[in-house]
Amino acid sequence: MRGEWVSYAGARQGRTFLPSAATCPLCPAREGGLGEIPFEQFEVAVFENRFPAFSDAATPVDLPGIETAPSQGRCEVVVFSDDHRAGLGSLSEDRLALLLEVWGARVEALGQDHPYVLPFENRGEEIGVTLHHPHGQIYAFPFIPAQTRRAAEAQAEAPVIERLLHGAGQLVVEEREHASAFVPPFAMYPFESWIAPRRRVPGPQTLSDAERLDMARLLGRTVRRLDALFGAPMPYILTVQCAPRGFEATFHMTIDIRPFRRDAGKLKYLAGVEQGSGVFLADVLPEDAAARLRAVSADYPA
Ligand SMILES: [Zn+2]
Repeated sequence: MRGEWVSYAGARQGRTFLPSAATCPLCPAREGGLGEIPFEQFEVAVFENRFPAFSDAATPVDLPGIETAPSQGRCEVVVFSDDHRAGLGSLSEDRLALLLEVWGARVEALGQDHPYVLPFENRGEEIGVTLHHPHGQIYAFPFIPAQTRRAAEAQAEAPVIERLLHGAGQLVVEEREHASAFVPPFAMYPFESWIAPRRRVPGPQTLSDAERLDMARLLGRTVRRLDALFGAPMPYILTVQCAPRGFEATFHMTIDIRPFRRDAGKLKYLAGVEQGSGVFLADVLPEDAAARLRAVSADYPA
């Protein structure tokens, strides 16, 4: 009815759920520890998700009268640091630049065999994170998701992101020579924040060193602003939007952060109108969100 696929992966119900710091599977391997990463220390680590939603081992399921396809693809885990308590807002700019390099390398490698690759981070128990250790994931899809295709087609028709960068004005939170952080004029979540390189590139794999460093700087500073807004770590969903196959020449990459706290102690929920119609209702005007984000500190907490 929506022209979209739904992926089912029953095996994921058994995944590790909120382990204590002492039994964290993403901490460096210790003597007798449970760590999945066999190093005493590391900067960024990438490995296959033990509980994948898409797997190249997926087999076809035959349901008479219903269109199905095997849920083939790849799911990887990206660990941002060996420090259990770190986060994108506490890591150094060099480490964040390295993370952008890692995202780019994986998008390029997984993109060889899959038409769309999505790096993302879910942060905060409020939105269902099951491991506290700072990490994200990368999904390589067997198809181009409908929402991604619409966005790519819109960009193929007009340089949407470039226009936003030129005309953002009061929606800009912070600008650097090679990148900009802003609230999109069509923000669906309160304090939604996007970071984009000024030059149109299809993904982090084609950023120059200088562009990568400016993107990294704005990424860390944007997360710290979101944390500073209500004096508590902001639960959010971060996605690195890269060109799906066939749209490399017109797609402008962005890092999109969708925060889930609209006010101190209050979360944004997707309720009747959002779920029933797909229309988002927002309580915070984009220009007000940008002004409030500009007003809070982007410095590392003391
Ligand atoms: Zn850990």
